[in-house]
Amino acid sequence: MTAVRVVPLSAGECLNIAALTERGAAWRLQAYPAGFALLEHPTRGAVLFDTGYGPGVRTLMRRWPGVLYGLITPVRLEAHQTALARLARLGIVAGDVHHLIVSHLHADHVGALRDFPAATLHLDAGAYPPLRGLKGLRAVRRAFLPELLPPDFEARTRELAYRAAPPGCAPFGRVADVFGDGSVYALPVPGHAPGMIALIVRTHEHAALDGDGAGLTLLASDAAWSVRALRADGEVHPLARVAFWNTGQERHSREALKTWLAAHPAARVIVSHDAPEAEHGD
Ligand SMILES: [Zn+2]
Repeated sequence: MTAVRVVPLSAGECLNIAALTERGAAWRLQAYPAGFALLEHPTRGAVLFDTGYGPGVRTLMRRWPGVLYGLITPVRLEAHQTALARLARLGIVAGDVHHLIVSHLHADHVGALRDFPAATLHLDAGAYPPLRGLKGLRAVRRAFLPELLPPDFEARTRELAYRAAPPGCAPFGRVADVFGDGSVYALPVPGHAPGMIALIVRTHEHAALDGDGAGLTLLASDAAWSVRALRADGEVHPLARVAFWNTGQERHSREALKTWLAAHPAARVIVSHDAPEAEHGD
């Protein structure tokens, strides 16, 4: 089976109130990384899962209505922290990236889409339609800044094709085998945002989906603010739920990921806004 190396990276950070992200945490501002990941695929090359913030976000935050986004979610991004800069240090240039898997369309996940003009954009069919055409305040309210999308966004988009899941994906009944080789599976986890996805990545060629999770990495995107909250029973503050696209779907998706993780305790977990777990030895 094809194995992929997962390199967790981040591009900038946002400030949020800790108490809103974790029940029982203090009412103080905390910085959260805008995580993304490089998936080194043996034949597809450098694949990205999201991009973090990008230079366009800073520009947009200087004018209406992006300035509101910056007030609600203050952003820090230095030039050396962008996805392009992070990848350059690994010897990867924009033209090397032919596949970019988009977890959802929030600004902190697609901030640098325009920097990867050669990439096919893989996303859930439900991610874009509810946001298409939103402008101004109605877009910012959804953490969506349409100006971040490249002009040929729709032409370069490829919808994920969900099929009956192989054994070991339960409770997920349908998943998308992104490259058709069993290396990267997309799981539908809508709720936080429309059409959000998580990934199960095979990082060891002998890893079994129906094993204990060893050799698998779960990239859970924004299904939780912290790895601990996803593994244990961390609930977000009711006020934080105001930002969810669909609270019922969000709970259902989070519970499904927790169930999968409970059955795969040895899987490595990465969420976008927390420090990534270390790779387990196997
Ligand atoms: Zn998000």
